Amino acid sequence: MDWNELAAAISAATGTGFLLARTEPVSGGCIHQAHVLHAQDGRQVFVKSNRLAHRDAFACEAEGLKAIAGTGTIRVPTPLLEDAIGQDAFLVMEYIVFDRNPSDWALMGQQLAALHRHTAPTFGWHRDNWIGASPQLNHCQTNWMDFFRDGRLAPQFKLAADNGLPLRDAQKLLHHLPHLLGEHAPAPSLIHGDLWAGNVAFSAGLPVLFDPAVHFADRECDLAMARLFGGFPEAFFEAYKASWPLPPGAAHRRPLYQLYHILNHANLFGGSYVHDANHLIQTLLC
Ligand code: ADP
Repeated sequence: MDWNELAAAISAATGTGFLLARTEPVSGGCIHQAHVLHAQDGRQVFVKSNRLAHRDAFACEAEGLKAIAGTGTIRVPTPLLEDAIGQDAFLVMEYIVFDRNPSDWALMGQQLAALHRHTAPTFGWHRDNWIGASPQLNHCQTNWMDFFRDGRLAPQFKLAADNGLPLRDAQKLLHHLPHLLGEHAPAPSLIHGDLWAGNVAFSAGLPVLFDPAVHFADRECDLAMARLFGGFPEAFFEAYKASWPLPPGAAHRRPLYQLYHILNHANLFGGSYVHDANHLIQTLLC
């Protein structure tokens, strides 16, 4: 990345000169490189960068952040600029100083419920986006089961086949969906879409979400993922349910919704996630 050229692009986008003092790498991401850029006047911005092939993912991330910000329910970093310089794509956003100790999980639960109250007539999104580095299909559908099968599980099973992963009973599981979802007919809620512990933080005690994969879906998808990969404290779930109780069967549907993310991890990272996916498929088929 040509940092000085990026600083010039930030100056042009923000209308105030951003004279670069130094760059500072940030760890914690799974896919991209992350840096804080410090300007000579003390301003700071947060920058994610990667090869040009990831440019669309940054455009989608910026759009998702704006969509969540537009609800006024929960804080997200403000995207400032998304573009490419040579072979490097980047997304510049507001730098937020995160608290060292996560705090008001109950407030995060309440604010997430408020986000989920923003609904649409159909499941999906106006365009496909990304879940981590995998494509996420968002063709709008009115039937939740059809959407989850065609837009979520089936594409991950296809990716797994293309990747040569030894998954068993994929088709059988797809045919088993009516047994797992029954008559469940959720409203299409605006969800974060990639809500694991690595994509949430607190700043001055208030909740912050970042790195979304937004779309309209069953709100239980966010809650199911929040119990994966580290998990959120119980106070979060209790406050969510107090704000907006879950319909009957939510605990029963949870592993199905988690399967989507386990499959995605199997496709992205392989290893024990393949075993986890097979185990979960067999559990769901029982
Ligand atoms: P990736 O898409 O590669 O997983 P993330 O979006 O998760 O990257 O960002 C990597 C790390 O950078 C996060 O774990 C978080 O600690 C930090 N981070 C993300 N966004 C911001 C921000 N706007 N301000 C400050 N730190 C951030």
